[in-house]
Amino acid sequence: MSIMVTGGAGFIGSNFVLDWLALSNEPVINLDKLTYAGNRGNLATLIHDPRHTLVQGDIGDPLLLASLLEKFRPRCVIHFAAESHVDRSILHPGDFIQTNVVGTFHLLEAVRKYWMSGGDALKAGFRFLHVSTDEVYGSLDNVAPAFRETDRYEPNSPYSASKAASDHLVRSYFHTYGLPVITTHCSNNYGPYQFPEKLIPLIIHNALTGKTLPLYGDGRQVRDWLYVKDHCAALRCVLAAGEVGQTYNIGGWNEKTNIEVVQTLCLILDRLCPPARGKSYAGQIAHIQDRPGHDRRYALDASKLENRLGWKPVETFETGMDKTVRWYLEHRSWVENVTSGSYLRWVEKQYQGK
Ligand code: NAD
Repeated sequence: MSIMVTGGAGFIGSNFVLDWLALSNEPVINLDKLTYAGNRGNLATLIHDPRHTLVQGDIGDPLLLASLLEKFRPRCVIHFAAESHVDRSILHPGDFIQTNVVGTFHLLEAVRKYWMSGGDALKAGFRFLHVSTDEVYGSLDNVAPAFRETDRYEPNSPYSASKAASDHLVRSYFHTYGLPVITTHCSNNYGPYQFPEKLIPLIIHNALTGKTLPLYGDGRQVRDWLYVKDHCAALRCVLAAGEVGQTYNIGGWNEKTNIEVVQTLCLILDRLCPPARGKSYAGQIAHIQDRPGHDRRYALDASKLENRLGWKPVETFETGMDKTVRWYLEHRSWVENVTSGSYLRWVEKQYQGK
């Protein structure tokens, strides 16, 4: 048996693949277009591992999808591949429609044909796990209860609208064709291998390189934060025991304002990597013009997953943030290389002839 992962060279996908192969011997077929956000270097420890097959390709390529499914015959598909950065979706929404909506449609079609033509065992046990976001639910005011799975969709950015559209397509393949799908909605992830355009690695990188620490508007936007390894554990749990046709919220019960996140990072950095005497990295914080249509608050109620499937996050915000800062301090060359491109060229060479 094997599993197929899309977008497994990105932030969450690569953590998922690394954790999966640390815990199991079941091979992984990893289909990734290797956009700017996909990084072979995240999977460098698997270069010579026969259990991992990385295929550079697009989820919007039906012929490639059909041939991979036929060749490897996976028992499930875990769909991470997406354009994922809200700021980029404001500048280039078309890329988000293409990959997140049209690409997910092509993937669903290929998977449906593969699943329908499979034997009874494949038909019964197969799962299509769609990895989605809490952003599809829209924005909350400061007193509203956290999002539940039954809340209606109110996406506000081209990113969240494209993810919402893909969620609806996935749902329709369950109701129309009986494809065994499950959708998860996760809150903001943080941890190793996150591309330094996202808040936490950006702040760490800018602090250490003496740049300003940019905060949108008043910095009081609220997000729920989850350590990426806890997200990966939740996905394994849903894959193993989740009910087909259901949706599950995955959250950390860690609502924080962006300013709290940045101040926490500055305190950890001040302790682990003290700046010049008497200074704090917090002195580099700068408020910048707010993002258009910026959602004020996301909060996620993960009690369905906790009560029905028994998953709980291991890391608190404090322990997860501490681990994350330590990881970036120990892997400063990773950040420098993904931002400069030289690592990419080095890893390309390592993969040649594989
Ligand atoms: P990421 O941007 O780091 O990685 C996305 C990966 O998908 C990259 O490796 C990229 O090369 C690949 N990809 C993009 N377009 C592709 C295409 N057309 N075909 C094949 N591969 C393609 O994203 P991430 O932060 O790891 O997020 C993974 C998934 O989790 C996304 O679906 C995202 O919506 C969802 N999610 C992310 C978060 C978060 O906080 N990062 C929270 C909730 C949900």
